Amino acid sequence: MVNAVHDSTPSSEPAAPLISLRGICKHYGGAATGQPEVTILRGIDLDIYAGEFVAVVGSSGSGKSTLMNILGCLDRPSSGTYYFQGQDVAGLDADALAWLRREAFGFVFQGYHLIASETAQENVEMPAVYAGLSKEERAQRATSLLARLGLQERLNNRPHQLSGGQQQRVSIARALMNGGSIILADEPTGALDSHSGAEVMALLGELADAGHTILLITHDREVAAQARRVIEVRDGSVVSDSQAAHAPQALPAPEGAPIPALPHFPAATDSSSASWWADLMEAARSAWRGMHTNRARTSLTLLGIVIGVASVIVMLAIGEGARRQVMERMGTMGTAILYMGSKPPATGGPAGNLTEEDLEAVRELPDIRRVLPVIGDPITVRYGSADKQIYAFAASEEMPAVHHWPVALGRFYTDAEDQDLAPLVVLGHKARLHFFPDEPHPLGRQLIIGNSAFEVIGVMSERGADSGAQDYDDMVFIPYRSGRARVYQSQTQPDYVVIEAMSSEQVHAAENAMRQLLLARHGGREDFGIGNAAARIQAEAATRKSMTMMLGLIAAVSLVVGGIGVMNVMLMTVKERTREIGIRMAVGARQRDILRQFLTEASLLTLVGGAVGLLVGLAVGVVLIVAGVPVVFSVRAMVGAFACAVITGLIFGYMPAKTAARLDPVRALAGE
Ligand code: ADP
Ligand code: MG
Repeated sequence: MVNAVHDSTPSSEPAAPLISLRGICKHYGGAATGQPEVTILRGIDLDIYAGEFVAVVGSSGSGKSTLMNILGCLDRPSSGTYYFQGQDVAGLDADALAWLRREAFGFVFQGYHLIASETAQENVEMPAVYAGLSKEERAQRATSLLARLGLQERLNNRPHQLSGGQQQRVSIARALMNGGSIILADEPTGALDSHSGAEVMALLGELADAGHTILLITHDREVAAQARRVIEVRDGSVVSDSQAAHAPQALPAPEGAPIPALPHFPAATDSSSASWWADLMEAARSAWRGMHTNRARTSLTLLGIVIGVASVIVMLAIGEGARRQVMERMGTMGTAILYMGSKPPATGGPAGNLTEEDLEAVRELPDIRRVLPVIGDPITVRYGSADKQIYAFAASEEMPAVHHWPVALGRFYTDAEDQDLAPLVVLGHKARLHFFPDEPHPLGRQLIIGNSAFEVIGVMSERGADSGAQDYDDMVFIPYRSGRARVYQSQTQPDYVVIEAMSSEQVHAAENAMRQLLLARHGGREDFGIGNAAARIQAEAATRKSMTMMLGLIAAVSLVVGGIGVMNVMLMTVKERTREIGIRMAVGARQRDILRQFLTEASLLTLVGGAVGLLVGLAVGVVLIVAGVPVVFSVRAMVGAFACAVITGLIFGYMPAKTAARLDPVRALAGE
């Protein structure tokens, strides 16, 4: 069997120390903090060689743990130099220190420091996660380590389901996960009964025999006596060393499982990541566990995001529905329609008379496409024995074009027929059902309108209830001139005139041109009125659009509020899990691993919230549709709301995650 640790040191003799401390001091407080300065370590000089089993003994408060934290690169000395394999550790950045902790050290603490929400196996695997080992390799190594320590039955137990001795064995397995060339054990038996303590000490002895370098810290001289070298610390100084400053004698060939070689230091590149995908999956898994553990709080936070996303979706859908409704109405009315009629001028006097010549002149205006004079009154219409008071609409042949209203059956009358005063009639959908309920082809039948007979030549398509006061389907249409000649003989001018501008942009120009023209023709008297329906509808559409935007804005604000909820919960999570973060750092997590973990948690939170919000929004929309509210879902709004939720999570999760990543490992481990 090869002693791997010794392989890693150059074979030149005498062997160089693995760890070398020179004048290490540690103070707390001082002028910068406003606290009185306390000196904990006072110039420690120490050489530790590969393969040694060293106990550091001293009374409580003598600075042992402080020393161990410095040795394990969890803390930096205030002054003095720490050489690891001959290299000054002070020059290393946080990532390189994390690398050292991960690859070189294995920590065993008095309080075990296992992560409570993870199983024994997951706790043991953790250092390998940060080392980038694949899932299978990790599981295999963790189970074999746990089996070696007699815990094969306890793989899926959480720490609270294990005895103190078992927990300490789990933490030893964790220390060995990445090799554990150097085991740093701080009072490993301190919390254990004497039997379990003896077991742990036996285990450390075996590991020392197998070639691991062991640094045991204890206040108990009996425990310390089991090590091969004992260093006594008092009041921050080394007061005795059983074997000071010389290389140990050649070690016996180690028994038991081989330990991996201590990686050469410093690492050329820190490539300890299996793949970003594996990392992400691992972070998502632990994030999911965190969310699951705090179900009540998680669901309350989610509620904020759910409400935010759902309201964005629903409000935009309602707004869009309302806008579409207006647009639809514009479609049936035409987007470029003006109305004109005679009326008494505001200055007093009789109403004007819109003559045929007036209409001809208007028709000639460049901005105007069509002019449709209309006379419509309820008239008694008869077919056989059936009669009915019904609107008989006398309008020119342009009526279907102006109203975008096609004929369903037969045809509409022509201008020529109008000029000839032909007695023709086209039926509205309901009027046809009224007079010809059983006749599929009423064409050619004669209707008596007023006192004249009109031949049915067509039926209009069904229009449905329109925005206007009258129901257009319940009417009959006759040519304008024959209507005036045969039905409305006493009428000297149209009831009103529908005017279609060339385009919706030209409506205003058309209106002005008409007004000027008619003023001139009527001797300057404004004895007519022009109504701009298109402008009204357009204004309404614009109002609805701004209403939609406002609703969307309100919804977006609720999303931001949801995001703040996420930030709040993440900050609380970081606070609650300070110790966990410390443990992760001790086993070698880099700052960016911690950052990624908490960012993943925040994103997962909002991802789930976004998905639920999407479903809730859709459900509310469906309920509204069933209730008859016009709702139009927009995929863009849904994708947008979802994306906003996730981005919110990232933005509001970043600050807490950064806070977590910046924690000082020693303070985090202490749970501060
Ligand atoms: P030991 O492990 O030997 O019991 P420690 O190294 O934990 O001792 O602590 C040594 C001394 O340092 C103690 O008196 C303790 O109060 C003090 N100490 C430890 N950490 C801090 C700190 N962050 N700020 C101030 N004093 C500290
Ligand atoms: Mg201590």
